[in-house]
Amino acid sequence: MIKTVIFDVDNTLYSYTDAHEAAFEALSMYADKKLGLSRDVFECLHKKTEDTLREYMGNVAALHNRCIRYQIMLESQGLPLYPHVLEMNDLYWDILLKAAVPSPGVPEALKRLKRQGIHIGIGTDMTARMQFKKLAVLGLLSHIDFLVSSEEAGAEKPEKAFFARCLDKAGVPGQECLFVGDSLKKDVYGAMNAGLRAAWYCPKGDPAQTDVLMITDMAQLPQTVSAL
Ligand SMILES: [Mg+2]
Repeated sequence: MIKTVIFDVDNTLYSYTDAHEAAFEALSMYADKKLGLSRDVFECLHKKTEDTLREYMGNVAALHNRCIRYQIMLESQGLPLYPHVLEMNDLYWDILLKAAVPSPGVPEALKRLKRQGIHIGIGTDMTARMQFKKLAVLGLLSHIDFLVSSEEAGAEKPEKAFFARCLDKAGVPGQECLFVGDSLKKDVYGAMNAGLRAAWYCPKGDPAQTDVLMITDMAQLPQTVSAL
C-alpha cells in the first residue's frame, strides 16, 4: 500500500521544455540587443558554458544556478558582468515562471491523492528557492508536505543518497513510497535502485517500455496509487 507519492518537478508537474523555450527566446533577444551576440553565437556559447561547467563541477545543484552560468559565459568573452549577469538571470526566471502551467490533470491528481490520505513530497534536482517559486506559480505548493532538492541532499538523482533523503522525510519503507518522474534513468531507475517504487510519467506513451509502471495521464495516478 502506497502512503507517500514523491514527484519530480521539471517536465513532470509542468512542461519545463515549453517554459524554457520561451525564457531562452527572451534571453537570446537580450544577448543580441545588449551584448551584441547573434542568436547562433549566443546558443553556441550557452551550450559550451553548460558543458564546461558540468565537466568542472560534476552533477551538483549549483550547476543549475544560472547566475553562475551567465557569469562564466560573459567572463569567457571579456564582456561586462554588471548589470548583465543579474539581468539575464532575472529575465530567464521571470519568463519561465510566467510561461509555466501545470501538466494536464496535475492539480486534480494532487487534490485527490490528498483526499485519499496520501502524503505528497517533491524530489528535484535543483536549488530549493527556484523550485518553491515554480510550485507557487503552479498553484501546487499548498498540497506539498515536504520537498527534497539536490541542493539539500548534496546529491543529484539517480544517486542513492538523494533517494535516501527522500525516504527519511517520507518516514515510510521504500515499498510504501512511489516516486513519479519523467526521466527513466534519474527518476524511475534511480528510485527503484534505492528501494522505492516508481512510475514513469510519459504523456506520449511508449509501448516498448514494458518493464516499468507508466503514467500517460496524471488524472490516472490516484487510481493507480490505490491499486498498488
Ligand atoms: Mg524531470
